[in-house]
Amino acid sequence: MAESMNGLHRTHRCGELNKTNVGETVTIMGWVQKKRDKGGLIFVDLRDRSGIIQIVLDEENHEKDLLEKAASLKSEYVVAIVGTVNLRGGAVNEKLSTGDIEINPSEIRILSESETPPFPIEENSKTKEELRLKYRFLDLRRPDIQKNLILRSKVATLTREFLASEGFLEIETPTLIKSTPEGARDYLVPSRMRPGNFYALPQSPQLYKQLLMCSGYDRYFQLARCYRDEDLRADRQPEFTQIDMELSFVDQEDVMEVNEKLLAKLFDEILGIKIELPIQRMKWQEAMDRFGSDKPDTRFAMELVDVGDLVANSEFVVFKSALSEGGIVKAINAKGEGNRGRKQIDKLVEFAKGNGAKGLAYIAIADDGTVKSSFAKFMSDEERDALISRMDGKPGDLLLFAADKKNVVWQVLGSLRLEIANQQGLLKPNEFKFLWVTEFPQFEYSEEQERFVAMHHPFTMPFDEDVDKLISDPGAVRAKAYDITLNGNEIGGGSVRIHQDDVQEKMFEALGFTKEQANDQFGFLLEAFKYGVPPHAGLAYGLDRLVMLMAEATSIRDVIAFPKNKDAVDLMSDAPGVVDSKQLDELGICTKETEE
Ligand code: ASP
Repeated sequence: MAESMNGLHRTHRCGELNKTNVGETVTIMGWVQKKRDKGGLIFVDLRDRSGIIQIVLDEENHEKDLLEKAASLKSEYVVAIVGTVNLRGGAVNEKLSTGDIEINPSEIRILSESETPPFPIEENSKTKEELRLKYRFLDLRRPDIQKNLILRSKVATLTREFLASEGFLEIETPTLIKSTPEGARDYLVPSRMRPGNFYALPQSPQLYKQLLMCSGYDRYFQLARCYRDEDLRADRQPEFTQIDMELSFVDQEDVMEVNEKLLAKLFDEILGIKIELPIQRMKWQEAMDRFGSDKPDTRFAMELVDVGDLVANSEFVVFKSALSEGGIVKAINAKGEGNRGRKQIDKLVEFAKGNGAKGLAYIAIADDGTVKSSFAKFMSDEERDALISRMDGKPGDLLLFAADKKNVVWQVLGSLRLEIANQQGLLKPNEFKFLWVTEFPQFEYSEEQERFVAMHHPFTMPFDEDVDKLISDPGAVRAKAYDITLNGNEIGGGSVRIHQDDVQEKMFEALGFTKEQANDQFGFLLEAFKYGVPPHAGLAYGLDRLVMLMAEATSIRDVIAFPKNKDAVDLMSDAPGVVDSKQLDELGICTKETEE
């Protein structure tokens, strides 16, 4: 039967005890990790979020009742133990922070019993994620997940402290808002009071934080829950958290400066890692040219090198047609991969095809200097030597060539360099390389919508000297937008905002909005801008991803208490679920039967 607390007070967490407590009487509470009954000698490992401690009973020193009670304990029982801290009689356990002490109990209280859990509560669980997510409340007991959530809490607390000390105000913005479908798909919430009308859940607090600037709250932040109804890629969640901020009377540099200080503080105080400031900056164009990515992983080189000029007169049709169609030919040097056999190279070719390549050409230089190439037949010795020399090819190197439209070459070689680096073990999770990527294009062309869409969002300020091109040459306009990246991940992004109505009007025009459409969706912001708006800029971090990288976790789900799975389903509560027809009636909603 479960006993109650009845005046008992916890004095310590299990993991807080150490040699300095020897001789003290303590009261600890937690879950039974394990009990070993060695006939007359009983060991109980008690666990709470701080760690594990060993309790020992033996026939000589303990009453029969107490021994029986200890013998009845099973995994995950919740117990309170009163006892004295002793130095261990047996061997010291180096793996535990409490490994040199143990508790000699005078009282054991069983606060609740437990059924046998569906999987063991242990670090580095081998249990399938699906089962762990179904029993998330048990999974959350595992020390590695607890460590992640404790780290996450520290990030949140320190962020609040730091931003407050920099004069930021924490202000909440609404989560039932108007749908503004520019960007990702909105999650909709039906209105009962106005049947047929819907709120949207915010994709970000963007409009509200800009309004706060108009209202004079010149430095705002919020740990904001955001929602995007997108097809989930491996590491996305439909709801996620941003560290969101906005500042008035500033330019790009000011935003970067305060954020560098924030990052430096988080990494120093939580991980003991000193970030070198200022963080390196790179223009978007350079990032694409050198790394084929707008979030380059700079922990290793393997940069993209243009060889278009060397193959301008090539007989090789793949190079020839790419160039004649306005494309590019680039290559990377995968050092140490030159001895790969045909099959192993084919695997890279398949990988490249999976990333949009029609094929992948190569020159492999074996350790003995023998050169093999997929396009040897179409290449003169001079061309070959020139390519090897441009790529700094040495014995043991594998040169990989992609020829196509610019975007395809970037994507193919950008992902290939990551894949090879990963295979070579170059992506060390405990090495942290930050990079600001700046000067993004203002627009990208959406083939699907057959129009230009904002690369960041419609409120991003174009470069002053590019404003004139907003309508005439949108593809050439650069944005005052910046991303902060870490080890090839975008951990945050932001921009200087447009605060002049004529520029904003042109921006909407370029995006294909009529005045009515712009007013309908963003009228309240445009109206606010008529009454005195300070120049402002901001940034938002994806808190989940930042914590994932800091925790060296491999999945974003491991740093979120109750995540959804890849199909946006909460396996524990089984959300989303069907609702009562009465609920739908009240909302004036009929649902369509669909065939599964
Ligand atoms: N609201 C933007 C986003 O969610 C960030 C920003 O511009 O501040 O990406």
